[in-house]
Formats: sequence, C-alpha cells, structure tokens
Amino acid sequence: MDKGRASELLITDRKVCLTFVVGEGRKPLGEKLVASDLNFKSLDSTKAALSSDQPALVGVETQPLKEMVRIQNDFSRRRMMLQRNVTNPQKRAKKLRERRGRQRNRVRDALHKLSTRQVKENPSFVFEDLKGIRKNGGEKKRSRRFRTYLNRWPYRLYQSMVEYKSTNRTIYVSPRGTSSERPVCGGRLEHPAWAVSRCVKCGVDYDRDRLASMAILCRALRLCGRPFAVSADASWQSFKDEYLYTPATPESGRAGRTKAANAPNGDVYESTHF
Ligand SMILES: [Zn+2]
Repeated sequence: MDKGRASELLITDRKVCLTFVVGEGRKPLGEKLVASDLNFKSLDSTKAALSSDQPALVGVETQPLKEMVRIQNDFSRRRMMLQRNVTNPQKRAKKLRERRGRQRNRVRDALHKLSTRQVKENPSFVFEDLKGIRKNGGEKKRSRRFRTYLNRWPYRLYQSMVEYKSTNRTIYVSPRGTSSERPVCGGRLEHPAWAVSRCVKCGVDYDRDRLASMAILCRALRLCGRPFAVSADASWQSFKDEYLYTPATPESGRAGRTKAANAPNGDVYESTHF
C-alpha cells in the first residue's frame, strides 16, 4: 500500500529534507495533482496542472460528505438509545458491537463510492500522512483537526482506497500545521471562527479547509521539486476568490457548510466513535 511513499519531510527556512520509502511497482506521477483536505463533512481539493514548466492551479472544489455525516449521526443517536434503554451491561456491549460493525460497513461503502468517483480523472492525489499523528497529546489538543484524528481510520481507509484504485502515484505530505500554514503571502493565520483562516498581514478571510488543501498542494509541489509561489502566480489570481471565506447560505451551492453542520462541538465530532 505504501510503496514509494514519501515518509518524512522536514522544512526549514532554507532547505527541504525528504526521506523516501521506495518500494517496487512505483506508479508514475500524474499530469495533475489533486490535494485533498479531508474532514468528516467535506472533501476540499485544490487541483494543479503539471503539464507546463510552471505548475498552475486549475480548480478548487468542495465536495460535501452528507452521507458520511448522516451515517455518523445515525450511529450517535442509536448508541444513545442503547445506553438509555438497555440496562444489562453485557447485552448493551454486544448490541453496541453489532451497531459499530454495521456502522463501519456503511462508512466503507460510502468511501468506496467516493473514492471511485474521485479517481475517475486519475490525477496524482496528495494527502496528509496521518500515520505520524499521535493519538493523545500534541500541541493542538483542542483543535478541530486534532479531534478528527481521534477517529482517523476512515481517512486512512479513504486514502488507501484512492491509492490502490489510482493508476498514478499518491503523495503523502506532513500533516503538521496545514491549517495554520501561510501558503499565500506568508502572513500569520488566525482562526477567529473555526471555518476561517484570517491572514493577519492582509486581513483577508480565507475558507480554512480550502486554504488547507492549498497548503497541502504547496507541500506536494515542493516535494516534487516544483515549488509554487502562490501570491505571485497568475493562476492564483483567477482562483483567489474561490478561497475566500463566505458564510454559507442555502443557495450558495455549498450546502454542506452550514453553521449547524460545521459546529465544532456538534454531533459529528464529539459524539462519534467508530
Ligand atoms: Zn496575506
């Protein structure tokens, strides 16, 4: 599964050190990179073409994962009902196990469909490498991203499905700080609301997940030896507006990003255990 995976990336001000794990059967690099930020409500992807000398942005998209949200909320609800209604602890544990098994199968099915759809254009996919993330501790203890790592098996599963379905290479980059990295102008980012990445230097509010996918792309391009200077790039100018934070409205076509679905302590994150 992990053939030819970049295992470690160290970036300092002046140099980039990269360790590769090279195995047999290495797949070629696609003509296009699709860098995805996965969270349980949406899949945010920044796409870049590698065909010319200079990498160029060719798209950014948000795919709402309504089915995944539904599966999780169903499970939370049923688990609560079991806890309330089944008093015998052994019986309850057994029922919970069964429920969890069914939950996992539903998640697996949903991820199969999603990955098959995503792989159709067959670019090289870029993901955050979630293997290095420790389960407990770490600087970002209370952040949304940290919470998602508590239940990272669906992400890992999705990544491995994409990796094996794609005929092109899948690239993994270090996951640390992709939501506080400053891919555009280098200004420090703040998060006045969970979905917002505000550039302290320019005062611009970016969509956090989309900007994170841009940061993931930038890391991958550095890995490939094709560094990308975002703010100086012409393709960035034409896509810039797509990265701006817009409070969701029902008509915005980004219905998966409503306030309720995005609430940091909502159903989705705190009460779901796979
Ligand atoms: Zn800025």
